[in-house]
Amino acid sequence: MIQLIRGFRDILPSDVPLWQRIEQTAVELFEAYGFAEIRIPIMEKTELFARSIGETTDIVEKEMYTFADRQGAKQKADELLTLRPEATASIVRAYIQHKMYAGDPLHKFYMTGPMFRRERPQKGRYRQFYQIDAEIFGTGSAYADVLLISMLTELLRRLGVDDTKAHLNSLGCPECRPAYRETLTAYIDARADRLCEDCQRRKTRNPLRVLDCKVTACREAMTQAPELIDHLCDACRDHFAIVTESLADLSVPYVLDKRLVRGLDYYTRTTFEIHTEVLGAQSAVAGGGRYDGLVEALGGPSIPASGFAIGFDRLAEIVAQKQPAAVPAPALFIAPIGEEARARAFPWFIELGQAGVTCDIEMGGKSLKAQMKRANRIGAAHVLIVGETELVQGAAILRDMNTKAQQAVPLERLVATLVAELG
Ligand code: ATP
Ligand code: MG
Repeated sequence: MIQLIRGFRDILPSDVPLWQRIEQTAVELFEAYGFAEIRIPIMEKTELFARSIGETTDIVEKEMYTFADRQGAKQKADELLTLRPEATASIVRAYIQHKMYAGDPLHKFYMTGPMFRRERPQKGRYRQFYQIDAEIFGTGSAYADVLLISMLTELLRRLGVDDTKAHLNSLGCPECRPAYRETLTAYIDARADRLCEDCQRRKTRNPLRVLDCKVTACREAMTQAPELIDHLCDACRDHFAIVTESLADLSVPYVLDKRLVRGLDYYTRTTFEIHTEVLGAQSAVAGGGRYDGLVEALGGPSIPASGFAIGFDRLAEIVAQKQPAAVPAPALFIAPIGEEARARAFPWFIELGQAGVTCDIEMGGKSLKAQMKRANRIGAAHVLIVGETELVQGAAILRDMNTKAQQAVPLERLVATLVAELG
């Protein structure tokens, strides 16, 4: 038997109601704040991710699903394509490509869909996983960052998770980061022999990433490292102060997390992760921040932006522990007995569905006993029984599965009666 690909997953019908509830809750909340859905392709040119996410990140270095797309005789080289490992790069590309910055550059987007990273599969970590993203283009305001963090907190609260904490840091800007980078590099160079292989490589190309390394030896070597937050320029410090003060005003729980640097190169200023105890201390359910340099880096005008990505799989796992979703049950199960009754009842079933009554019917020739068993199993609220006798008497029997009460429903106007009663 052919099994699914390692690190991939099926989301079975018993889990889907939960996923739908999460998505609907997010959509409702985001749209209230003027976010509009954008749908972007699942594949892009590899170069887009390499340039935006950064050549020295884990994603680009080792996690992307990339392949050469065979080109026609005219083109010389095959084109490298990549299954998207995250959404921001594509959304920025679309924003630039469709010149959405013309006129009013302010746009708020959200999207949801699968992402692909060839990571080591483990609990809660997949190679195809899902994200819910939101991005705000066209404003550098600290309040945009606050809106994003507050939306995340509220989304989780609406889903029954009320112990969230936003971990916050500021990554500075091109004004203040270079000087800090030098200070940090000097610190790292003095301890280089204690660092893991990855950090040996990172330390010259992307020293900030060393702060973020999960290897114990690296963590220990970095305990006394200079903190970015103490090296911000005045403008970045003021910006960050608005974020923390406004979050406090709104009673959004947060903590400063000076080691939070995020894996992606394009982040500037505010960076954050949302944590909850449900998953344990180590893992974040969402992450994001400001990326003021990315639109320009990808060939657009200089336009600031900010956004987040929620790990949908992790969110679903958290919410399932807090409030498991019930699989929806139909309002009606139609139980015809005999060929003639089935032929009569089938159009009722089609019409009831068209009228919005959730219903099901026995399509084979099962006995009434077997049909009642099935109605029970799927949790139908009512069963409509119709056999030869009912056809002769001109009325079917509607049984309330809760109270066991039964009533006769005349076959004329049967659909209208049931729509009125159950719809
Ligand atoms: P992590 O530190 O957990 O690897 P990350 O920094 O790589 O996270 P982001 O790129 O910011 O994660 O993605 C945002 C969210 O997507 C994460 O907080 C996490 O919940 C989720 N996520 C990331 N990678 C995976 C994966 N392989 N499987 C499931 N969820 C994931
Ligand atoms: Mg990761």
